[in-house]
Amino acid sequence: MFDYLIVGCGFAGAVLAERLANSGKRVLIVEKRDHIAGNAYDHYNEDGILVHKYGPHIFHTNSKEVFNYLSRFTEWRSYRHRVLASVDGQLVPIPINATTINKLYGLNLSSDEVCGFLANRAEKRSPVLTSEDVVVNAVGRELYEKFFRGYTRKQWELDPSELDASVTARVPTRSNFDDRYFTDTYQAMPLHGYTEMFRKMLSHPNISVMLKTDYRDIVEIIPHGKLVFTGPIDSYFDYCYGKLPYRSIDFKFETLNRENFQETGTVNYPNDNLYTRITEFKYLTGQEHSKTSIVYEYPTAEGDPYYPIPRRENQELYNRYKKLAETLDDVYFTGRLGTYKYYNMDQVVAQSLALFKKLEAVVEY
Ligand code: FAD
Ligand code: UDP
Repeated sequence: MFDYLIVGCGFAGAVLAERLANSGKRVLIVEKRDHIAGNAYDHYNEDGILVHKYGPHIFHTNSKEVFNYLSRFTEWRSYRHRVLASVDGQLVPIPINATTINKLYGLNLSSDEVCGFLANRAEKRSPVLTSEDVVVNAVGRELYEKFFRGYTRKQWELDPSELDASVTARVPTRSNFDDRYFTDTYQAMPLHGYTEMFRKMLSHPNISVMLKTDYRDIVEIIPHGKLVFTGPIDSYFDYCYGKLPYRSIDFKFETLNRENFQETGTVNYPNDNLYTRITEFKYLTGQEHSKTSIVYEYPTAEGDPYYPIPRRENQELYNRYKKLAETLDDVYFTGRLGTYKYYNMDQVVAQSLALFKKLEAVVEY
């Protein structure tokens, strides 16, 4: 008899399982893929290069609690992610910063001058509701079209005006010279990779993991107490209100017989090509190797559900499923798919730590 049946072995499921096991509960995780770690799964490819099967995963957080928690299962390699965008035949930093403006327009402005430059171009929008509003409000239409419109249409098959503000708000605008993609307090990669970190997290005698199994095949057979579902919430309910839209990606991997391919971890292609970006893994992992592996991301409508699509009608449909979920006894939903939220890894960890406290009525002193 298991106290908990957890569906899905990504961050949401694994963190919760570890916390529950640690407090004496017996946990079964059932995962339909043939590996642990969910979308954060990494592995050594046939040339011995560490790659991320589901696209580049860079860990960053402002939460000391989340960072300290994960540090129990891994050492870290400090890493600052830097991204260039291919615009007007040049590679320039994104998020847009002073260097971007100077390079693009052949200027030599100071940070204060860039602030004025952007303020002159910004078209003030109030209220800021859509992903178009966010960018046009900050940098004006020309830069919006160079950096955001095409990329967003490729990534989401929607115009930025049809997406919630939260999507492009993930990428800030800066008037200083800071060219890091993220500014979080903690930015680091698990030293031996994500899968290894998950292995440690799950190596508790109270945790059993069943791979290559859809939970539906065992849910009626294996006795358990509470059920925690981290797959797509609409799939749990057999899409009874209709399908929640997700965006998927086709990942095309290549290994090249040369030491390096590009000059930074990721290069974005807002306007050219069918792919959105190319990532070279050795920058992320710090691995030294005579060859190098890269991944192209081609967004698609079909395929594994990777991205919830933040817009009002989807949120309304999700809210209906959420209401239905609240009528169930002893069934809980968490994670990026379980709660239909465009969450980063650290947010999913925080969500599972919070759910654990709720489930087990943990009192903090
Ligand atoms: P998942 O990792 O999706 O795990 C859910 C698991 O449930 C899956 O393994 C699935 O197979 C399983 N499952 C579903 N249904 C069933 C079923 N019926 N039976 C059994 N098992 C089932 N975050 C960052 O912080 N930094 C990044 O740089 C970053 N880059 C990303 C790049 C891409 C291309 C993508 C797609 C995401 C990225 N993320 C990044 C987000 C990150 O992947 C997620 O926040 C995190 O993996 C979500 O964890 P999860 O456990 O909620 O979901
Ligand atoms: N975006 C863009 N141009 C860029 C980078 C991002 O238009 O060069 C927009 C796009 O809509 C993208 C969103 O900002 O989906 C969020 O970008 P992020 O890099 O956070 O996406 P993720 O890594 O989650 O795929």
